[in-house]
Amino acid sequence: MTKEEYKGIWVFAEQQNGKLNNTVLEILAKAQELKAYNHEEIIAVLLGKNVSALADTLFTYGADKVILAENDALSSYSARPYETALTQLAKKHKPSIILYGATSLGRDLAPRLMVTLNTGLTADAIDLGFDKDGVFYQTTPAYGGSILAHIVILEARPQMATVRPMMFEPIEPRNNAAGEVIAETVDVVADADYEVLSTAPKQDTGDSIEAASVIVAGGRGLKEESDLAQLKELASLLGGQIAASRPLVDNSWLPHDRQIGQSGASVKPKYIFNIAISGSVQYQVGMQNSGCIISVNHTKGAPIFDISHYGVVADYKTVIPALVEEIRRRKN
Ligand SMILES: Cc1cc2nc3c(=O)[nH]c(=O)nc-3n(C[C@H](O)[C@H](O)[C@H](O)COP(=O)(O)OP(=O)(O)OC[C@H]3O[C@@H](n4cnc5c(N)ncnc54)[C@H](O)[C@@H]3O)c2cc1C
Repeated sequence: MTKEEYKGIWVFAEQQNGKLNNTVLEILAKAQELKAYNHEEIIAVLLGKNVSALADTLFTYGADKVILAENDALSSYSARPYETALTQLAKKHKPSIILYGATSLGRDLAPRLMVTLNTGLTADAIDLGFDKDGVFYQTTPAYGGSILAHIVILEARPQMATVRPMMFEPIEPRNNAAGEVIAETVDVVADADYEVLSTAPKQDTGDSIEAASVIVAGGRGLKEESDLAQLKELASLLGGQIAASRPLVDNSWLPHDRQIGQSGASVKPKYIFNIAISGSVQYQVGMQNSGCIISVNHTKGAPIFDISHYGVVADYKTVIPALVEEIRRRKN
């Protein structure tokens, strides 16, 4: 079979406890652009047990078809049954592209498929597209993030990538959208070496940086840990959350769940304030899709200004107290 005979843009429809991961909707949106170029159908692949109702959501957010495989062994995520099921489906339908969210589940599953399908996989793509020769590429930070690489999988099929959360905006819901559900039977058994003893929902304290609409992030330019108090005050006045670039987390000034970037969280708030952050590629990949980017840095040529909507070339020690005072004044 030649590589041209592989057809279809597959989006792995990650769900847990019957709830789709939001990254699926983001990837479905990007898949529309890919389809506009290669004219291949967008097919969401949904594995689980009693999950058929999710097909409607997948159509609403851009899937043309849904391949649905339900089985007791797929009722909750377990690596080997999922690997087996998806491998069987991919070998049968032969998609040209398979995209997964770069979630902990997607990062576990995708490399397994890379091996069973003997193909290539790009990890943590931040963009996808076709180059001038029509070759599908995946953009990802490489060499420690010093460059953005365009990776192509020239001969092997399917071409696969995990895609970072929050890179793309889901499309506007297409109300009453419908499509074909292809019900498949997969030959899988539960993994005898693996047993889920209990599950507990992740504690939602309501203050995660991923969900915040305003973020005030501090960087290595902060002189002392106590300076974080000013940033926290600004965040609190704006109803936002405090976050950081990696050096502050490495210093244990803030926990890792506050870190933005390649080895931290991806965020997309309406407003983000970058305070004394230079704007390394590794930081930018975690926040570059934010709505309005405001940066304070005393170095005029700092790279963060290249992606900022508003920039203040100044010492944060003068700017932040002035901002706090002005917001307080207007609130009173
Ligand atoms: C594999 C890998 C993964 C990584 N993952 C991440 C990641 O997830 N997140 C991340 O952030 N980094 C990550 N890094 C590290 C990254 O390369 C940078 O080192 C880091 O982002 C720099 O953080 P910074 O901008 O806070 O510090 P710096 O680059 O040191 O910048 C400090 C800035 O503060 C400014 N400044 C100093 N004093 C003041 C002042 N008084 N007022 C105003 N401005 C001032 C300076 O002009 C400077 O621009 C990763 C690196 C690697 C190799």
